[in-house]
Amino acid sequence: MLTVEEARARVLEAVDLLEPQDVLVGEARGLVAATDVRAPHPLPRFHNSAMDGYAVRGDDARSASETTPVLLQVAGATRAGDRGDVAVRPGCAVKIMTGAPLPPGADAVVPVEQTHESNGLVAVKASTPTGRNVRPAGDDVEEGDIVLLAGTELGPGELALLASLGQSPVSVRAAPRVAVLVTGDELVAPEEMPQAGQIRDSNSVALVALVAEAGGRVVGLHRVPDRRSAVVAAFEQAAQGSDLILSSGGVAVGDYDFVKDVIEELGRIDLWRVAMQPGKPVVLGSVMGVTFLGLPGNPVSIHVGFEQFVRPVLRKMRGCTTLLRPRITAELTETIEKQPGRLHFVRVRLTPVQRGWQATPTGRQGSHIQSSLVDCHGVALFGRNESLLEAGSQVVVEVWRLPDGEVAGG
Ligand code: AMP
Ligand code: MG
Repeated sequence: MLTVEEARARVLEAVDLLEPQDVLVGEARGLVAATDVRAPHPLPRFHNSAMDGYAVRGDDARSASETTPVLLQVAGATRAGDRGDVAVRPGCAVKIMTGAPLPPGADAVVPVEQTHESNGLVAVKASTPTGRNVRPAGDDVEEGDIVLLAGTELGPGELALLASLGQSPVSVRAAPRVAVLVTGDELVAPEEMPQAGQIRDSNSVALVALVAEAGGRVVGLHRVPDRRSAVVAAFEQAAQGSDLILSSGGVAVGDYDFVKDVIEELGRIDLWRVAMQPGKPVVLGSVMGVTFLGLPGNPVSIHVGFEQFVRPVLRKMRGCTTLLRPRITAELTETIEKQPGRLHFVRVRLTPVQRGWQATPTGRQGSHIQSSLVDCHGVALFGRNESLLEAGSQVVVEVWRLPDGEVAGG
């Protein structure tokens, strides 16, 4: 059986980056830059005032103080949006608002709080040398600077910088289109009352949320009974207009697990079963040219399999630089045991402690124990060949999210 790393490498090899597209910067949140971005001009574009006050010449205002103010003649006023062509000659000042271009001749700004104006004269009451309270052109970004690299996810800060530099539209890779297919005769919608033997379909809800969090877009959601013809029809439909097909259930060795057979009929299987728990019967394949990942149906297996294989695949398609979740080491608070043979993913809660983190298993670890996913911050890796992890030992935790609240200083 393949290890998780081997399987992940194969899965990642099976997919390519999506083609770049041009998207308006205001609509590019969460998308990934497809190219490095170079500044076409400096930022700020022009010298401007960092304060509301008076634009002056540093030569005039350097010697000013509370006790010996410098008197300057007010030659005009300028505000943000003005062209800023009223010059400041020696012995003069121009009233200026934050963001207004610095008038020709001026090289410093006295904050209004350090002045007093009357009868066309302003008294400068604090030393204001050249450069004070001025934002020079190029202070933030010089023309030609690379401001962000291909592979950067565009959040509010990146988007604002791109907007300031006029980078709209911007070249990004779009969200991968994911078709989701859940199998099982036992499934009813979450809004329905299950009859005897039925259960509510929670996997489709989980998968839609997981896909969204990983930056994908669900384009089709199919709830499919365990009938071969129904599974065939659903996969044929799912392959239309999607970049990835994702399924839950039907990949084990039960009499009604048709997914593998159907994939072999419509496409091919490249991998089945990974030495992990939960989530062993993972399938990688392709259906009518579209990459397919099949996860076993147990609700916890969905999460673990998604994190190990699907999220990295979606991130690769999006062109992200980092594909995997961050890992930290934490002190395990309980002793845990298992049989050697498979890598176990132990759901844990993280608590910040004086130096670092503690990891506490979220309770029983069966792949049907959904309550163990509440407030779960990630999974501790319980190595394939290990059988005992003692309380107090250091474990590696793959972090899915961090707890809210304050982290104690270390
Ligand atoms: P399977 O992989 O199809 O054998 O399913 C394994 C277990 O997961 C069974 O107990 C199923 O009832 C359960 N299961 C399968 N699909 C879903 C689903 N969509 N929502 C919740 N549980 C499911
Ligand atoms: Mg099933």
